[in-house]
Amino acid sequence: MNRIYNFSAGPSVLPVSVLEKAANELVNYQDQGLSVMEMSHRSAAYDEIHQEAIALLRKLMNIPDNYEVLFLTGGASTQFAMVPLNLMTKNHKADYLITGSWANKAYQQAKEYGDVRIVASSKDQNFTYIPKTTAADYRKEADYIHICTNNTIYGTRIKPDQVPQVDGVPLVADMSSNILSEEYDVNKFGLIYAGTQKNMAPAGLTVAIIRKDLIGPAQDKTPIMLQYKTHVDSNSLYNTPPTYNIYMLKLVLEWLEELGGIPAMEAINKEKAQKLYQYIDESPFYKGTARPEDRSLMNVPFLTPSPELDAKFIEGAKKRGLENLKGHRSVGGIRASIYNAMPIEGIDTLIDYMAQFAKDNK
Ligand SMILES: *Cc1c(COP(=O)(O)O)cnc(C)c1O
Repeated sequence: MNRIYNFSAGPSVLPVSVLEKAANELVNYQDQGLSVMEMSHRSAAYDEIHQEAIALLRKLMNIPDNYEVLFLTGGASTQFAMVPLNLMTKNHKADYLITGSWANKAYQQAKEYGDVRIVASSKDQNFTYIPKTTAADYRKEADYIHICTNNTIYGTRIKPDQVPQVDGVPLVADMSSNILSEEYDVNKFGLIYAGTQKNMAPAGLTVAIIRKDLIGPAQDKTPIMLQYKTHVDSNSLYNTPPTYNIYMLKLVLEWLEELGGIPAMEAINKEKAQKLYQYIDESPFYKGTARPEDRSLMNVPFLTPSPELDAKFIEGAKKRGLENLKGHRSVGGIRASIYNAMPIEGIDTLIDYMAQFAKDNK
């Protein structure tokens, strides 16, 4: 089998065993005589997949009973609107921490729906760090505080023990690019959302985990499909959900459970990231761009001594089966996205290539 090491930021690598299982079941799912793709979303066979995916996510993330798990569509980007439409309903105020382009897009959208304030931003240094804040920086009367736990483009993260906490103000987190990668305490959040194409499943599904007391009437004229309540009341079956993606999510969650759950995954992710960062830090040739204490476990951006060498590096990497290492078009350089499904061999092969490239180009 000729699989590449796929360092894409998203859609991204999936576990090979999951792809193989899906392939085996693709045409005839468990002797039902049809594919999951062809099933009614109201059928018993599909219902089992749907319920199992929810149950597994609850178990793996330790989601308490006072939270609902929702399967939505429209990507994380649609949540940028759903969050203010559904939660900015009391004082019509919300506070946003701007740690990258996605957080900024969420803020830009929310501005349309109320009094939205930037608490702090790391734009001054091209989002290479996480601004430090305290509870006093946030408005007590805000309807919610919005953060992005992992900044996919810049390779920074808000660690589980550093998420802002303000008494009585729900915390909303975009976890698209690091959900399931390390242990976050769900109790600290009012709402967590994630597009699945980074760490969970193929593109097309969005997962939301919402505390029950936050499910209520949305702002006036909010479309039915954009109200959390619609999806809660129908167990995410108000309309046809992306059934095959939910099936794929179930397979990925089974894979994760077999591995030992999130604690085991976190240990592996820390080993992978640590190995790569250590190599970068010890090399006089490469330079990491994110502030060390804020570094992401999932996206590792770095530079060679020049943009020309960056381009040459990326070209040469392709020949070694190391693909999609180009940095985001807004920042350039190199970015290795090393999500849950990236095996440690991928990191080792990348480091071998980096060492050879540095030697050949110094
Ligand atoms: C990829 C990404 C998004 C955008 O997700 P879509 O599903 O394409 O809308 C939003 N936030 C973060 C942190 C991301 O990594």
